[in-house]
Amino acid sequence: MRAKEARMTFMDTPRFRRYEQQRKGQTHCHAGHPLTAANTREQVSVRNGRKYVVRICKACERARQKRKGALKNESVG
Ligand SMILES: [Zn+2]
Repeated sequence: MRAKEARMTFMDTPRFRRYEQQRKGQTHCHAGHPLTAANTREQVSVRNGRKYVVRICKACERARQKRKGALKNESVG
């Protein structure tokens, strides 16, 4: 792969910065869980060689896992 010049990604745009700030200002996740320190964990992701931190809602994560488990049970039972 040729590395001609640093490619402009979405994360370099002012739009992303605004989006990021909006996210930081959020008090609830999309499902309505409170985004407190106890209910969130920070996950470091690397994309396009760039490190950034995303906040994961633990309640949503649990719900996701539960759904997955329920799906599994359904297919088994
Ligand atoms: Zn949530």
